[in-house]
Parts: sequence; structure tokens; C-alpha cells
Amino acid sequence: MKKNDIVKIDIIDMTVDGSGVGKYEGMAVFVPLTAVGDTASVRILKVKKSYAYGKVEEILIPSNARIENDCASFKSCGGCVYRHISYEKECEIKQNKVYSAIKRIGGIDLEPKEIIPSNRISHYRNKEQLPVSVSGKFGFFAKHSHRVIECESCKLQPEIFDKISGSVSEFLTLYNIKPYNEENHTGLFRHLYIRIAEKTGEILVCAVINGNSLPFADEFIKALKAVCGENLKSVQINKNKEKTNVILGKECEVLYGEKYITDILCGVKVRISPLSFYQVNRDMAECLYEKAAEYAECENKNVLDLYCGAGTIGLSMAKRAKSIVGVEIIPEAVEDAKFNAKNNGIENARFICADAAAAADMLAKESYQPDVVIVDPPRKGCDEALLETIAKGFSPERVVYVSCDSATLARDAKILEEKGYKLIEYTPVDLFPRTAHCETIAYFISE
Ligand code: SAH
Repeated sequence: MKKNDIVKIDIIDMTVDGSGVGKYEGMAVFVPLTAVGDTASVRILKVKKSYAYGKVEEILIPSNARIENDCASFKSCGGCVYRHISYEKECEIKQNKVYSAIKRIGGIDLEPKEIIPSNRISHYRNKEQLPVSVSGKFGFFAKHSHRVIECESCKLQPEIFDKISGSVSEFLTLYNIKPYNEENHTGLFRHLYIRIAEKTGEILVCAVINGNSLPFADEFIKALKAVCGENLKSVQINKNKEKTNVILGKECEVLYGEKYITDILCGVKVRISPLSFYQVNRDMAECLYEKAAEYAECENKNVLDLYCGAGTIGLSMAKRAKSIVGVEIIPEAVEDAKFNAKNNGIENARFICADAAAAADMLAKESYQPDVVIVDPPRKGCDEALLETIAKGFSPERVVYVSCDSATLARDAKILEEKGYKLIEYTPVDLFPRTAHCETIAYFISE
């Protein structure tokens, strides 16, 4: 097999990032935008030692999992990977992906519970951070790149976001505000950040800028008000003058309204600042947190909520639990968490702003003893030092692990098992339909 060969391939598997996989002359060939069950004519693009990459020339026999893709940006945008596959099939793929990670990386042969599908597969996102193209239009980064694919209407986000980005794009053109250019670090407007609190309708818009101020800020606010009306609760700028691909800088400044918006999650009023993490799929976050409460058996327990963000998981359990201690590294999120506890009349929760491993170490030395430890780390998972402190310092009855990356969950599950915990049950929860991502929640019991 060599570059530009056209070969006939049966797609027999999917990679974790949603590319189809087939075999040719015993070698794995990765073919994006195919589905398990397709037979395709494939042009070989690159041949490596033990695998190759190809591109579909023609689908010869379509898989019965195929559906009509309904988004013009799908092929180039780096967001969705499953728009050509039925949601049912997507859930099956995600279920297998999580199982295979636990088995292969974690070395644990335990099947997951049935995946909990999302109630919505369109318009479920409550937040977007849209990069701006050279011509001042918003969109998304292309796959594996920072080239901006202009997209006026994204199927995953609420329709009001399309209107906001369209209006901001007009504002940029009208007032000649230069889009940021990542390569030479010039221009002003980097990203448009939009968040909606779905239960209250409140909208926050933040302009991420390579500078200290946004010219024509009053016109910016006016344009946003015209689109959002009363729901516009906060307009801010976020200053990011670094030469970096990290989207947000550390400093926000309010141009209009409040510093935050308020949503209601699991019956708790949650205030969220732009720098605070908040699950992008609100309804499924409720589902996830209900599962977390079930796995934690939180009634009358002392619960340690590590990587707690604005405190949402712990606070959703606070009425049933004996006490909650939350730990989070972002100061604004900790401020939100403290406010959220007070604002909901919750008196048995406290929050610490620190690195999870360092705080756990400190709490263990103070002889604090949680009955349940919940961890909800970013994709890279937990530090081994933290898992050591959890297992040997706290030795709680239960560990509940909320994960957005099944590979690091599996790695950490293996470590926890080596340290005396047993994985009892885990459930994939689909918070990110149509994309390659899937949330998983697991619990472990001390042996
Ligand atoms: N449990 C929260 C947030 C989960 S996202 C929720 O469900 O909404 C992961 C969180 O971990 C983020 O808020 C991030 O800021 C925080 N974080 C990242 N690294 C951390 C660290 N080393 N120590 C503590 N928190 C950290």
C-alpha cells in the first residue's frame, strides 16, 4: 500500500475520536467520516509503519447506522464527529469505548452499566468560546488545527448564540475592530465567549481581547441588548495578552450588568462567573450529579468534593449529607462556591482554594476524615500523589470518580485498585452528543 492508492475497505471499528477503522493488507487504516458497517473506496493519504490514513472517495455500501449529516461545517469543523451516524449507534460506540479503556488500560474486566443518553442531541450546549476568522466572522477551529472554520449556525448551541455571534461580527466590521491573529500576535478580538443559564434564561457575553479595553464598548452592549433583551445579564471583557492558545486570561472586567449569571441545578441556585467551570449540558449534568449522589450514598456522610468548580456536585448533596468540603484551584470558582452555599442557606459546606493534591495532604494531616471522596478532575485525571492520599491518608469507604476522559479514568482506576479500592460500578453518561467526548461516573469501595 502506498500514497494515493485507491483501495476497498470494510470499516470494522471506530477510534476514540470518532474515525472509522478498517484493515488493508493486515494494516489498520484510519478513515474519518466513515461508520462501522460501511464498505468504502478509500484514497490512501499517508502510510506509517503499522498503520495508514485514508480519505473516503466513495461509500460503496453504506452502514445501516448511517444518517444524513445536517451540518455544512461537519466535514471541516473539529467539534462533531458523529453527525453521519445515528445517535443510538453513537451511544453504543461510546459505551464500548469506555468499557475498552477500563479493560485495556485499567486491566479491569467489569462491564459498564448501560450508557445514559442525552435527552437532547441538538442545542444542548450552554457555553461557547468562538474564535474569530480573519474576516471577522465567528466559527470553530478545524480538526487538529487553529484554522477558523466560519460557522453561522452551530447545531449544538442554542439558536440565540448564532444571533449573538452574528451581531458581534457586524459590530467588529462596523467599528473596524481587528480580529486577533494567533500567528503574529496582532489584532484585538480573540474569542467571543457566551454562556446561558438555561433555567433562568440569563445570558453572559464576554469579549476575550488582546488588550486592556474594547473600543466602542457602549455600541457593543447596545448590539447585544438588541439581540438578548432583558436576558442580557452580564457583558464583560477578558484580557488575554499572552501569546498562547489558552483561551481565557486571568482578568475579567464588567462592562455592563453583573459579574455572573445564575442557573438552577438540582434545585440549587448556582452563580457562575466566566472563569468558573460549569458543565455545558445542564440537563445531563443533573443526571450525572444524581448518579454521583447515588454512588456516594451521601445520606448523613462527610463528603470531600475535590475539583469542585463552583461547588455544584457537593452542594447538590448538601441537604442529605452531614458535611461537604470542596476543593478547587480557580479563585473565582471558589468565590462562586462559597456564595452558592450561602445563597441556598447551606451551612454544612466549606470550600478551599488550592491544588487538590496539596489540599488533600493538608486535610489528611489535620485528621479530617471523609466517608466519601468525590473527584472530578480535568482530562488529565488525578495526580498519583492525590490517589495515595485518598487511599492511605483518608481511607474513605467510597471513592466516586467523575471523569471526562475514560483513558485517564482507567489509568487511575488501576492505581486505586492497587491501593486497596475495588471498582464496583461505572456508568457512561452522554453529556456531549455528536462529539467524541463522553462522561463516565464510577465508584470504588475500600476492600
Ligand atoms: N466538579 C465541578 C468541576 C469539574 S471540572 C463541576 O461538576 O462543575 C474540573 C475542575 O477542576 C475545574 O473547575 C478546574 O478549575 C479544577 N482544577 C483543575 N486542576 C485542579 C487542581 N490541580 N486542583 C484543584 N482543582 C483543579
